Amino acid sequence: MKKIYLDHNATTPVHSEVIKEMLPYYRDIYGNASSFHQFGQQARKAVEEAREKVVDFIGAKSGEIIFTSGGTEADNFAIKGVAYANQTKGKHIITSSIEHHAVLNSCKYLEKQGFRITYLPVDKYGLINPEEVKKAIEDETILISIMHANNEMGTIEPIAEVGKIAKEKGVYFHIDAVQSAGKIPVEVKELNVDLLSLSGHKVYGPKGIGVLYIRKGTKIQPLIHGGHHEKNKRAGTENVPGIIGLAKAIEIARITVKEEAIRLTNLRNRLWTSINEKIEDVFLHGHPQERLPNTLNLSFEGVEGEAIILDLDMKGIAVSTGSACTSGTLEPSHVLKAMGVNPRLAQGAIRFSLGEDNTQEEIDYVADMLSGIVSRLRGISPFYQKKESKDLYKGA
Ligand SMILES: *Cc1c(COP(=O)(O)O)cnc(C)c1O
Repeated sequence: MKKIYLDHNATTPVHSEVIKEMLPYYRDIYGNASSFHQFGQQARKAVEEAREKVVDFIGAKSGEIIFTSGGTEADNFAIKGVAYANQTKGKHIITSSIEHHAVLNSCKYLEKQGFRITYLPVDKYGLINPEEVKKAIEDETILISIMHANNEMGTIEPIAEVGKIAKEKGVYFHIDAVQSAGKIPVEVKELNVDLLSLSGHKVYGPKGIGVLYIRKGTKIQPLIHGGHHEKNKRAGTENVPGIIGLAKAIEIARITVKEEAIRLTNLRNRLWTSINEKIEDVFLHGHPQERLPNTLNLSFEGVEGEAIILDLDMKGIAVSTGSACTSGTLEPSHVLKAMGVNPRLAQGAIRFSLGEDNTQEEIDYVADMLSGIVSRLRGISPFYQKKESKDLYKGA
């Protein structure tokens, strides 16, 4: 059976060029990057070259990035690390209600330790309002953490505006750029951010490697204690193959990002148009324009998202509900909830996230399959009323 993967916001396949680049660091150059001998020094050199590539990609300086075990650790480090190091100044943090759980649950954890968190609301498109960020800032505020782009519906937040406000007010600003990196430009100076999280496996690199950018001069406390790795900020023997792989993936993304953004936007729009033509009562979630090029989040009235996903899976098509981390629970997505989406519609939400291996034929095939699946499910759904009957009802 043909297999079609449309879940790139959950994870991506590793580029073969990335794997090729990584392999020598398992088999030949396997030294510990902290060792003095040639095995170690070769690994050290490779790690530092990789660091330069990542630093260049986000427009940072050499000493400003720390390698972590992934996006989750980078988010935890940014939030808890800044909170602990600056708590004498204040214990107030501002974030949004649509963050990834790596951010939300780090904030919840800090709440138990006496920090106060403001969870900013979003509008129906999932956008935060920079004016509300400004209003929420107090003397006690030490950190603002807002995601660059949302993983569920792809909305891109007005980061540069928030960055300006944070800078004026002298509050540290962290962004989770895990979804935006490799899809749209991510530049720390333009965005005015002090901290930024990245993850390897969302950009065609390996799993278990990530980056936290920490602007020079930012007060932050380490979370992981041990040896003197990563300038005493993150102990643990460096994941050399992972670091090499991440850097290669980013190097490739840098070259392809512009063209891929255009190609994916076209494919994504083709999918939306075609679904819209074939299926009635479909709703688009997220901002119509300010959105990641690859992401399409839709609700099909009268049917459960989970049911559609299972049927698509049987046809070899992989999509997901809101996020990989909440699937498995039947809770509606916290993101759609914050956007004010009717809970019944939110239950029917499906995320299509396209990637570089997807073709036009695949997209057309998916739209065809989906049309059959949705009409079959609606046929057996007690909740679905056809448009005609609703119109009739209105007229009566
Ligand atoms: C995937 C993801 C993370 C977590 O990254 P991991 O490397 O999987 O730990 C954090 N934030 C966002 C927005 C994500 O999409």
